[in-house]
Amino acid sequence: MSKILEIKNLTVSFDGFKALNDLNFSMESGELRVIIGPNGAGKTTFLDVITGKVQPTKGRVLFKGKNIKKNPEYKIARMGIGRKFQTPRVYLNLTVTENLDLVCNHNKNVFSTLFSRPKSGEIITVAGLLETIGLEAKANAQAALLSHGEKQRLEIGMLVAQSPDLLLVDEPAAGLTDEETENVGALLLSLAESHSIIAIEHDMEFVRQIANNKVTVLHQGSVLCEGTMDEVQNDPRVIEVYLGKAPSITQQQMNMLRIAASMAWADGNFEPEQIDVILSRLSREFATNVEHQDSLQKELQNYLAKNIPLEDLVPKLKSFGEKERVLKLSYEIISSNEINDREAVVYQKLLQLLDLPTEMVEQVEAEIDAQYK
Ligand code: ADP
Ligand code: MG
Repeated sequence: MSKILEIKNLTVSFDGFKALNDLNFSMESGELRVIIGPNGAGKTTFLDVITGKVQPTKGRVLFKGKNIKKNPEYKIARMGIGRKFQTPRVYLNLTVTENLDLVCNHNKNVFSTLFSRPKSGEIITVAGLLETIGLEAKANAQAALLSHGEKQRLEIGMLVAQSPDLLLVDEPAAGLTDEETENVGALLLSLAESHSIIAIEHDMEFVRQIANNKVTVLHQGSVLCEGTMDEVQNDPRVIEVYLGKAPSITQQQMNMLRIAASMAWADGNFEPEQIDVILSRLSREFATNVEHQDSLQKELQNYLAKNIPLEDLVPKLKSFGEKERVLKLSYEIISSNEINDREAVVYQKLLQLLDLPTEMVEQVEAEIDAQYK
């Protein structure tokens, strides 16, 4: 077997934030590889780099041994990489057959007959495609009338018509009913017999259905581990970051939020609205985008509920910078309301444990006081 895709030391930075961080990956020709990982792990960015939509900051992507660097998207597509986006992109006012016709005929122009003929020599027909994607009965239906799952299958069919060597599918089960999920899964499995496929997936049931080989777990822009579904599911690191509904932020970040939360939790009784305000502020601290902030806020509800003594939390702070950040956040939390006696006591204890220079504490407090006045 030969490698269809090899990725070496890939880093993608967005304004200094590493969406992919020194990522290494490789897969054999003919493999169906499932990639999982929590929100924000870098899965979509990973596909963006392979398809040329995003240029890497560092590292190499080798497709069939060739560096795809600096090739525009359409060229990479022509080299044989087909991508299925999360939302179906089909022509809604055309019928299923017309949609497929369009791509099949497109392949009949001189260039593609010369250069992008299926290597196996098989001829792709609309009838064959309809059968593959299980839409024979809907051949003459307008695409707009298809269910979401049927649209997904139609788009997969349109991709297959272009006979890519490598098929990339981003969360094909998102938003599907159970039955549709199974259909799409079955389609991918049957395509896997003759294609190399990377399927990015979030839905664990779906992953169990299609992961017949290796699963790669992404976390914070790197490969956390790889193995069979069973191996991956039993890996404590995976349970921690993903399957066990562990937080989508690092332990260290969670630790910082826990400390700040204990300031607010000190007086124990507040209105639900107040809790929302505090959780919203805390989730903003490390969220990577608005969506993440939303999900993080829900996570925090569970994670911050546990009252852990400051004596256990503060010594885990590693750097001066982390201590300063915790100080700011904590003081901000208690300043958002009138500081009561209990909060004052807990805050004093925090200062003691942080053991930061007095001038620094005073400066941070003054800055935040100025904001709240
Ligand atoms: P996933 O698909 O695993 O949920 P993404 O690849 O979409 O993750 O995103 C990884 C991280 O990179 C996220 O924190 C996201 O906010 C960030 N990111 C993605 N695209 C951009 C961009 N164009 N600019 C800045 N940050 C981005
Ligand atoms: Mg994504």
